[in-house]
Amino acid sequence: MTVDAIAGGAYIVAALLFILSLAGLSRHETARAGVIYGIVGMAIALLSTLALTVADAWGGAGSALGLTLMAAGVLVGAAIGLWRAKVVQMTQMPELIAMLHSFVGIAAVLVGWNGYLAHEPIAENLVGIHNAEVFIGIFIGGVTFTGSIVAYLKLSAKISSRPLVLPGKNALNIGALVLFLVLTVWFVMDQQLWLLIAVTLLSFALGWHLVASIGGGDMPVVVSMLNSYSGWAAAAAGFLLNNDLLIVTGALVGSSGAYLSYIMCKAMNRSFISVIAGGFGIVASASSDEDFGEYRELTAESAAAMLESASSVIITPGYGMAVAQAQYPVADLVARLRERGVDVRFGIHPVAGRLPGHMNVLLAEAKVPYDIVLGMDEINDDFASTSVVLVIGANDTVNPAAAEDPGSPIAGMPVLKVWEAENVIVFKRSMAAGYAGVQNPLFFRENAQMLFGDAKERVEDIIHAL
Ligand code: NDP
Repeated sequence: MTVDAIAGGAYIVAALLFILSLAGLSRHETARAGVIYGIVGMAIALLSTLALTVADAWGGAGSALGLTLMAAGVLVGAAIGLWRAKVVQMTQMPELIAMLHSFVGIAAVLVGWNGYLAHEPIAENLVGIHNAEVFIGIFIGGVTFTGSIVAYLKLSAKISSRPLVLPGKNALNIGALVLFLVLTVWFVMDQQLWLLIAVTLLSFALGWHLVASIGGGDMPVVVSMLNSYSGWAAAAAGFLLNNDLLIVTGALVGSSGAYLSYIMCKAMNRSFISVIAGGFGIVASASSDEDFGEYRELTAESAAAMLESASSVIITPGYGMAVAQAQYPVADLVARLRERGVDVRFGIHPVAGRLPGHMNVLLAEAKVPYDIVLGMDEINDDFASTSVVLVIGANDTVNPAAAEDPGSPIAGMPVLKVWEAENVIVFKRSMAAGYAGVQNPLFFRENAQMLFGDAKERVEDIIHAL
């Protein structure tokens, strides 16, 4: 049996393992198995590709120099990857993922260029298809590359998360797509170098503009959308490299990312088409200087007294809990309150934190029992009959303006209705706005009180007072 045939079989096994991995990752109980399937699948894929390359260098068209270069690239890349994965904070995960998506994008662009500059002889009747693959691969890769860079800059707060609103932005996006179609047809008929340069620049500009036009509140959808684009970019590269596994894997990532974007759009009451089209139809609202009135503060001791006499408590964590790493004292506080007979549950918003499932991961890390961690839809009707809500480092996800102010940039996004509870205690360090940059009228409500400071320290103070 040839190395080619063995690698072909191994690719099918790896593709099946990736499908099993995705299926496993969709539920808590099977997530660990899902991760293991993914690791085994990727190991098989890497080893098979390596075997093919080595066989190629010995007996085929490849060279020992190519092999050495590849080995050096893999070693340097793996070392940097290991180091980044070790030092990255949980709160920096979304920006790291965005950066990794940009690598997939630029790889697809380079594969496309390579497909034009140095390709093996192609049968005459397939030349047109090959040229279309080159062009489309470069376009998808380019959009993914710059779009992911802008997402990285926004998520790491290196640029403002406000949407860029250029005059006629929708016309610009549609114009870019039409131009791409025209250039593709042109390139298939006549392979001019300048057409390739033009589509590369066009895709870079479009990717940049698409993501820059989307506001902070819609960033979760952008992250999963770029995940999807990176999948399609990989699939396009797979066609050019004649690599079936890359096509299958790219399609899996592309379609699951697109479905995740769709689910997140539904959870946030956003139009899917509008978000993937770079905020198509969204009109930027004027920032308001509205006077919300006075807010009230309380101490950790009075918070402890309030919790002691409460019959039911709901905790709604957000990004601030992740920053403060407050999940461990929070889990401790929950255990103590439950020992005293208080009914304590968690309410998790689908986009709390900075990546899907962020809060669930933190709470699982701190060994909070799964059965008291509920999703927004499961718990939203219970706030009205709750004695105390602890808003720990959450802001946009508990903002009543989303439900009550049609002019708010987050209008229509479903939120946790914490303000319906008898008492609300908000843990944060200042009166600063949340990720979407919108002030939160909750903090000024009659039944709300602020507990300022680092969430971890304040929760520890409450445990001490109890
Ligand atoms: P927000 O990001 O709206 O607010 C977090 C709050 O935590 C801030 O107001 C901040 O206030 C406070 N905070 C920060 N550090 C600390 C600390 N050490 N101790 C106490 N408080 C702290 O949080 P939410 O989770 O409610 O909302 C998530 C937002 O992120 C949404 O807008 C969502 O769209 C967006 N997003 C979500 C993604 C996802 O996939 N989940 C991806 C990308 C964006 P202060 O500075 O005053 O302390």
